[in-house]
Amino acid sequence: MRVLIAEDEPALARQLADSLGQAGYAVDAAGDGARAEFLGQTETYDAVVLDLGLPGMDGLTVLRRWREAGMAAPVLVLTARGSWHEKVQGIDGGADDYVSKPFRMEEVLARLRALIRRSSGQVQPELRAGDVTLDPRGARVMRGDTPVKLTSHEFRVLSYLMHQRGRVVSQAELTEHIYAQDYDRDSNTVEVFIARLRRKVGPGVIETVRGLGYRVAAE
Ligand code: CA
Repeated sequence: MRVLIAEDEPALARQLADSLGQAGYAVDAAGDGARAEFLGQTETYDAVVLDLGLPGMDGLTVLRRWREAGMAAPVLVLTARGSWHEKVQGIDGGADDYVSKPFRMEEVLARLRALIRRSSGQVQPELRAGDVTLDPRGARVMRGDTPVKLTSHEFRVLSYLMHQRGRVVSQAELTEHIYAQDYDRDSNTVEVFIARLRRKVGPGVIETVRGLGYRVAAE
């Protein structure tokens, strides 16, 4: 899962990036409106955290331009405290949820999990495939009663496939959702991650659909 953070306060942007990274997301950051607009229209995200008070181009304009361009990722807007009209404008402008500043990081993380869950059609907070359970709260994976230790990239691959349960996901699509923008990408490494995941979670969880990609079977 990959998330864009558009926030101009450096300390807050870093705090968000660190927390989201620890929660298992690949994270891109934009410090002004133009950069945010560009990344949102050229890269692929599973969710976006958007500060409405951005320099250059304000967050509401960025959001409207994204939506006009067909950008579909769920957007969580950060609004000024007590500004009910920012919340209304944000939601009318295409936001899916909001958090008022100052906020607790736990709340941002919980709202992002819910947005990603809903946008991928999942209703349960825990994702299951066979005897494997993935809990996005705390980025935990269990095989039966045994915790499974995954690297951050392995976790992102499994998390994306489990959120897309029942659908075939190509290597190219997976690649877009597991790496941050500045990461040196190599689509062959997806095969390596899949092979390692099969050793860790069991051979039956991730199917290969020849010539098309990978699928975690829907239950
Ligand atoms: Ca700001």
